[in-house]
Amino acid sequence: MDDNFNFDTLAVRSGTLRSDFGEHSEALFLTSSFVFANAAEAAERFKNSEDSYTYSRFTNPTVTMFQDRLAALEGGEACMATASGMSAILSVVMSAMQAGDHLVSSQSLFGSTLGMFSQIFSKFGITTTFVDPTDLDAWKNAVRPETKMFFLETPSNPLTEVADIEAIGKIAKAANALFVVDNCFCSPALQQPLKLGADVVMHSATKFLDGQGRVLGGALVGSKQFIMEKVFPFVRSAGPTLSAFNAWVLLKGMETLSLRVERQSANAMAIARWLEMHPAVKRVFYPGLESHPQYAIAKRQQKAGGAILSFDLKGDTPDAQRASAWRVIDNAKICSITANLGDTRTTITHPATTTHSRITPEARAAAGITEGLIRLAVGLEDAADIRTDLERGLNAGV
Ligand SMILES: *Cc1c(COP(=O)(O)O)cnc(C)c1O
Repeated sequence: MDDNFNFDTLAVRSGTLRSDFGEHSEALFLTSSFVFANAAEAAERFKNSEDSYTYSRFTNPTVTMFQDRLAALEGGEACMATASGMSAILSVVMSAMQAGDHLVSSQSLFGSTLGMFSQIFSKFGITTTFVDPTDLDAWKNAVRPETKMFFLETPSNPLTEVADIEAIGKIAKAANALFVVDNCFCSPALQQPLKLGADVVMHSATKFLDGQGRVLGGALVGSKQFIMEKVFPFVRSAGPTLSAFNAWVLLKGMETLSLRVERQSANAMAIARWLEMHPAVKRVFYPGLESHPQYAIAKRQQKAGGAILSFDLKGDTPDAQRASAWRVIDNAKICSITANLGDTRTTITHPATTTHSRITPEARAAAGITEGLIRLAVGLEDAADIRTDLERGLNAGV
């Protein structure tokens, strides 16, 4: 589709393939394989398996539509879809690295990503140095001759630290390392890392691309050369493939992506401002607030603050803090107590005892994840109702 179309047009229209039936909405191709007119055609299609339909482990028209739409939204040349965000991370590392190679990664990572880097890839001779994502010298100093990849997540989970994509991209380029950015928290509606110097954007489509908490999915977006020559052969052989059904759900989700994310950001901003004034709250972490340590960077590289915020409650001891946090969570009637995020429904989490419970108390303290910390992934409910929902537990503690 024409590159000159704006984001909202691309979100609704790009990637659409129409069959001979002339269907208006994207068709769901539930077929594991495709038939050929004769042996010669089968041979020809298998030879060009990137550009033709043979078997749904590697090509399927509904998945192609999802890939082309996401590539258009991220401003990338090509996209490879995967079964989940984690299989996208598996695929990018398997495609770009080998035993003996070294990875420099932000230390503020999604828990399973941290586990992959520190426990799984290390078994195959790929080592990782973790750095403070906001410390540019730390990125620079971690580079070794065998460094092949930089990995960054911004904003981070759950403290919403924001790292300077453009500045880290320059360090990665100087090191000749592939710069991969997990764009899950912002989605392309708020942030387009490829335009800021990233080589590859990785997604958990499970979050904002679906946006309604229904299916798992993942993707890698980058140059045609990297995606087709490196990632495609891995996915084709190993099979961490996105299903046609999930691709179809995600295509429909992407049509409303910017509307949802903009409204969810506005709701999050209103709630963050209100929490900042609340006497039971010690501190609010939200990139849209002037009090955020990287407010200036966020303002430059994100269109809005995003839907995710966290806040720390007052309390004399960790036990008292935990009691306050659990009281807020248990008094919420609207917010869902669940770890998923990016849903139309607001979700509330106590990171110290759930998403970050498997790391040591020392590591948790070093990461700033206190017993009083609550993460909120703000949905599309009325912001005033969410405020009332939180107020019940907060006021009980003052
Ligand atoms: C959820 C998430 C992932 C993993 O995605 P799955 O689809 O659950 O495999 C990776 N990174 C971030 C930032 C996430 O929030």
